Parts: sequence; C-alpha cells; structure tokens
Amino acid sequence: MNTKLLIGGRLVSGEGPADPVLDAATGAELASVPAATVSQVEEAVRAAETAFAGWGRTSPRERAQALLRIAEDIEADADGYAALESRNTGKPLAAARNDEMPSIADVFRFFAGVCRSPSGLAAAEYLPGHTSLIRRDPIGVVGSITPWNYPLMMAAWKIAPALAAGNTLVLKPSEMTPLTTLKLAARLGELLPPGVINVICGRGEPVGTALVSHERVRMVSLTGSVATGQKVLAAAAGNLKRTHLELGGKAPVIVFDDADLEAVVSGVRTFGFYNAGQDCTAACRLYAGKRIYERLVADLTGAARSLRLGSQQEEGVEMGPLISQTQRERVAAMVARAAATGHAEITTGGKARAGAGFFYEPTVIAGARQDDEIVQREVFGPVVSVTPFSDAEQAIRWANDSEYGLASSVWTRDVSRAMQVAAQLQFGATWINTHFASVSEMPHGGFKRSGYGKDLSVYALEDYTVVRHIMVKLQG
Ligand code: NAD
Repeated sequence: MNTKLLIGGRLVSGEGPADPVLDAATGAELASVPAATVSQVEEAVRAAETAFAGWGRTSPRERAQALLRIAEDIEADADGYAALESRNTGKPLAAARNDEMPSIADVFRFFAGVCRSPSGLAAAEYLPGHTSLIRRDPIGVVGSITPWNYPLMMAAWKIAPALAAGNTLVLKPSEMTPLTTLKLAARLGELLPPGVINVICGRGEPVGTALVSHERVRMVSLTGSVATGQKVLAAAAGNLKRTHLELGGKAPVIVFDDADLEAVVSGVRTFGFYNAGQDCTAACRLYAGKRIYERLVADLTGAARSLRLGSQQEEGVEMGPLISQTQRERVAAMVARAAATGHAEITTGGKARAGAGFFYEPTVIAGARQDDEIVQREVFGPVVSVTPFSDAEQAIRWANDSEYGLASSVWTRDVSRAMQVAAQLQFGATWINTHFASVSEMPHGGFKRSGYGKDLSVYALEDYTVVRHIMVKLQG
C-alpha cells in the first residue's frame, strides 16, 4: 500500500505529522499517512510549474494518449482499486467495483476524446483587414482538493479535464481517504512526465491552506463542504486565482399524486441511501402530493427498513457505514433535533447500529416542515425527509427555498407538467422520473451555495482553460 507522496515524479515520504486512515466498517487503523510539510507543498507547486513548460505545449493527441493509458491502467487493476476504496470508506465492494471503477476509467477516456475536438467561435475578419481567432489555452498550475465520499472518482473528475486541457496539477485528497489516490499516484509517476501531477496529503489546515493560497497556483478546484469552499475562496483572493467549487447539496424530490409510486419508492430507496447518503446529490428532501403522501411514507418506510446494512463484503450488502465517528455523531444529532420538533416523526431508523464501525440505520422522517433544519440543511447521511405539499406552485417554491442548488428530481406521469416544473427549478441538474444518474458527457455542478464550475462534460474542459483572442493585421 503506497503511503508516499508524489512530488516531481518521485515518491517521497511526507515529513509532516501522520494521519491515521481507518476502515469505516470496523474503526480499525488501515494505514498511517504522513502529511506533507509546507515546504513539500512548495516543492510540489514548483515541480508542477516546471512541468507546465512542457506539458502545456503538448498536442491534444499526446495528452489524449496519456489519458487513455491512465484509463487502461486503472481498468487493469480495477479489483485492487475497488478493494482498497471499499476497505477505507466502508462502502460495499460491489458498488466500488461495478459502479465506480468503470465510470472512473470512462472519465479519462471521455476527456482524452473531447480535448482533441475543441469548439468555439469561427475565425473571421470581424474588423476589416484583420483576422481574429480564439485560442483556449491551459491556465497553469491547478491545485485540486477532494473529499472522502468518492475519493478516487472525485480525483478522476479533477485530474482528467485539468490534464486534458494542458494544465499541471497538485492534488490533495481528504486526509481520511487518501489511499486510492496514493495508489494511483504511484502509477501516474510512471505514466506521466515528472511534475505533471503531484499528490500531497494532509489536513485542510495547514496543507490545503498552503496549496490554495500559493502565489504560483493559478486555479483551485475543490469538491467539499460549503464552509471549506468559503475558506478556499478567501484564500484564493490573494493572487485572484480562478476557483472551481463543487460544494454541498440538499436535493428536493417532488412527487406528484400521479407518480408511479413503486418507481418513486424503489428510486428513493436506491438514490436516497446510496453511499449511506453521503452524496451531494442524494434524494433526501421529498415533497409529496397530499393524495400520495401517506402511502409514500408507508412504502418508503418499509423499503428503507429492508435495506441490507453491513460491511464491505457481506453477502447482499446494500449500505455501508458513515465515514467516521464524527460524521455519525453529526447525523445522529440532526435526527435527534428533528425528532425534538414534536411534529416530525421518525418512521424507521433514527439510531446507530451497535458494534464496531460507524453504521447508522437508514432513516425516514415524515411530516417534516419547510423551515425545519432537517429540510434546510445537508445531513450527508442515510436520512430522507418527507413533507406534504398542496399544489405545484408550493412544491416549486419550497424546492427552491434552499441555500443549495445542485440536484433535484420531479416524479409524475405528466410529461408537460414535468417539463414546466423542471424549467422553474434552480438546480444544476433535474431528473425526471429518476434521480442521481450521471454520465461523462453531461455536466455536474450547481449554483447558490452548492458552488459553481462544472465537473464532467465539455464544460469542465472549458473551465480548465482560458479563452484568448489573437488578432492578425493583414498586409496589403
Ligand atoms: P470538507 O470540506 O471537510 O473537506 C474536503 C476537502 O477539503 C478535504 O480534502 C479537506 O482536507 C480539504 N480542506 C478542508 N479545509 C480546507 C481549507 N481550509 N483549505 C483547503 N482545503 C481544505 O468536505 P468533506 O467532509 O470531505 O466532504 C463532504 C462535503 O463535500 C459535503 O458537503 C458534500 O456535499 C460535498 N461534496 C460535494 C460534491 C459536489 O460535486 N458538489 C461531491 C461530493 C461531496
């Protein structure tokens, strides 16, 4: 298991204090990963800057070939990556292997293709006697910071478009889940020229802060909490870095009376509790029409109760633990406060599972009101609230009455109504009669406090480039 950092093409031990890395399903220590010191952050940024002189001038074809090699390399060891990811995060092995690994390889393949075919304004004589053309050039050194919920997938979402666009990178994974990123780092040290990607470990303070405030870092991309996004934004102000923020979410799920109840229940059972609800797009804030409400609560309660909670490789396991004891306490405290309102009813779950690991039962909270904390704030755990609504106007108003703007869904058999509602929702993504699915070709990202900037899709590639205008004065 690699616990070394990648700086300038060499694997080196972190010289800062070590962070314990746990198996979330048992709480046992899996590894101890020494953090980078501030001077190692400095070295990594310098290495990325040196490498930029070469990598920034490679042809799209060369970069595409490198990304395709990375995709193949990950696929060849997908079992190894999945095993390590699931051991660290506690998530079911099958989910890591069958859901995450193929889509991680696909992200590298997608950006390998799309970087060879940039589009934009046509070159022309917009000023008579002068030809204007547009370039999309790389920005320089990018500092990327990833969270703990999908560690390798979030790293892929940051690395692939940044490298495809010709930037070089210093990446910091979450201190709780660095192992798969470090495993990848060891391979990237061989697959890419030295310094094109550097991986450093450690906590937000001091390692993340040193990276995001560094004068020679030209852009920061972060997936993390809103609070961290605000700190990153403040730190980036020093040299006016570009920022690319993917922050929290609290996805509304609007269920009209005519919806296919079975599909809604099975959808929320999957998309509300996937990854133990530690997902910024989790289907967690249900609004149900008054006629379907009672049955929805009853059926969803039964469905949530039937979820198989367990450790990574248990037969038929569907849901793993939360990432840490701290996260479990946070989730438990929010559920306790919901119960204390007196009107919200916990119809199933609402407690930690006894024994080792950071398990928390799948939880449904009925009768939650719009102003309740449980409706307004991100839980990032296996907790779904259900609130009855009277009409479409109220459902849309409540869905939008949120500081978050990442993901949403509408469930109805009436296509026109679905489209009318979708048009009024203020979220980066709206699914109709489903939730959660993402593809490399389509953008992922939000607005309001969910941040801005897109991951995946051609929009991500654009985010990692700068638009330039070249004008030639024609002779004669
Ligand atoms: P977090 O904000 O605590 O940490 C994210 C990363 O930021 C970690 O690597 C951490 O070390 C680093 N960090 C913390 N403080 C920092 C600082 N001051 N400067 C620089 N880096 C710092 O988030 P988390 O708890 O790891 O992840 C959960 C959060 O991520 C949730 O809010 C979730 O909604 C969000 N998330 C968003 C998306 C999305 O695409 N929008 C996807 C996954 C997770």
